[in-house]
Amino acid sequence: MDLIVHSLYSNKEVFLRELVSNASDALDKLRYLSVTDSDLLKDGPELDIRIQTDKDNGTITIIDTGIGMTRQELVDSLGTIASSGTAKFLKALKESQETSVDSNLIGQFGVGFYSAFLVSDKVVVSTKSPKSDKQYVWESEAESNSYTIREETDTEKLIPRGTRLTLYLKRDDKGFAHPERIQKLVKNYSQFVSFPIYTWQEKGYTKEVEVDDPAEAKIEAGDETKTEVKKKTKTVVEKYWDWELTNETQPIWLRNPREVSTDEYNAFYKNTFNEYMDPLASSHFTTEGEVEFRSILYVPATKKDDIPDRKTKNIRLYIKRVFISDDFDGELFPRYLSFVKGVVDSNDLPLNVSREILQESRVVRIMRKRLVRKAFDMILGISCSENRDDYEKFWENYGKFLKLGCLEDQENHKRIAPLLRFFSSQSSEELISLDEYVENMKPEQKDIYYIAADSLSSAKHAPFLEKLNEKEYEVLFLIDPMDEVSVRNLNTYKDKRFIDISKENLDLGMHTKVLLLEPPFTAE
Ligand code: ADP
Ligand code: MG
Repeated sequence: MDLIVHSLYSNKEVFLRELVSNASDALDKLRYLSVTDSDLLKDGPELDIRIQTDKDNGTITIIDTGIGMTRQELVDSLGTIASSGTAKFLKALKESQETSVDSNLIGQFGVGFYSAFLVSDKVVVSTKSPKSDKQYVWESEAESNSYTIREETDTEKLIPRGTRLTLYLKRDDKGFAHPERIQKLVKNYSQFVSFPIYTWQEKGYTKEVEVDDPAEAKIEAGDETKTEVKKKTKTVVEKYWDWELTNETQPIWLRNPREVSTDEYNAFYKNTFNEYMDPLASSHFTTEGEVEFRSILYVPATKKDDIPDRKTKNIRLYIKRVFISDDFDGELFPRYLSFVKGVVDSNDLPLNVSREILQESRVVRIMRKRLVRKAFDMILGISCSENRDDYEKFWENYGKFLKLGCLEDQENHKRIAPLLRFFSSQSSEELISLDEYVENMKPEQKDIYYIAADSLSSAKHAPFLEKLNEKEYEVLFLIDPMDEVSVRNLNTYKDKRFIDISKENLDLGMHTKVLLLEPPFTAE
């Protein structure tokens, strides 16, 4: 805990984002379960998040009407950091070998529930799961490194369902309990949470009241002294407190693309996928016809080292705006495109969709096909951009994913091939595309030549190369082990075969003609 608190010190305010995202996850889980079990909502149909501040006492209370936790879940989820966002964060922290963490790392990993202690001396979580008839309280003080769990006895704090989390702010952090400060943080960090977030705000309305006007009092002398006080009206502001909706709850993908700014797309992306850099490209589209869905896809700018061998959480599936899952195994998006991130919202799938349904559904197959096409269009867009650096960056980050696509997705060879990049005998500094190669072919040249080698310099010194250089035929240098596998899988590009120049019987196209002109040899 100390480590977390110290390494995040300068970014304390992430605590709110983390706690609100937990509340939102809890609401997602409840909403999803309630699709098949509507009884879950019987104690209260509202799914929302409420944040109340008490600046005099320095407390913040975050209340959600989500899934809540049973006693055991409290122990498992908050009593240990083994499986939480916090654990992932700690792991990364240790691996980075740094004592202080830059904001990049924070952006990449959720720091989780324990970020509450960035600003709090004490955290109290009172929670009620629909699975349990009791409400439990988890309580821990930052200093103590331990926690207690008891049953909720304070009847004022009983909730029908969900979680009520109270932060007792540290002396220096009591400023977070100002309602305007919280409002600003919510707008900043949680603008794309799809449940309403209300904050407790002081409001005022004006009203006219009658007041005495002593200046106008007239004293009439005479038998009797009479004092008459005149009245006048005055405008006063009447103050009161009330919940105020603080976020925009219409999902960004339902909005008209023409009305969404790049900044908004980027902010949504960073919020949703915990990314810290703007994406390289995005694509927002609606498909109509047989299958209707809306989607926003993104190509990240961050590097991914490994191609995951199993499930990736890159696509978030919503059905009729209900978040269903981000846990897919190629059903919605092929593995080799798993670097693409996005949201998909369909009206054509049943809300209680299961993995089996996903695997067999015709709707899903059509969706997958369209998503893949859109992803390729988006990548092609980067490659056509005026700024060549963009695509170089893309290729450096994700080139090997596309090469894997040559092996795994025969059907999309036509889309993948133009996106590949290679060095060549005539361009050993700058990568070229196959289109550029083809344009540079000699009029009589029929095939695309390549040599596989383990480095640029050994490619340059390959035997046979000289012969082709003489003819000014360009030769692709395949210096990544995946390169050769991918061109072999492609087999041809624009009807031109890929030919390995190191193979015997290299036919340089002209050859046959030359042979035919010579008189046939006769064996003697
Ligand atoms: P993560 O969100 O990555 O799982 P956290 O540290 O943020 O990690 O949270 C740990 C776990 O505590 C969550 O996975 C969830 O099970 C539970 N939890 C936290 N906040 C809530 C909440 N408001 N309602 C229900 N469960 C919660
Ligand atoms: Mg979390």
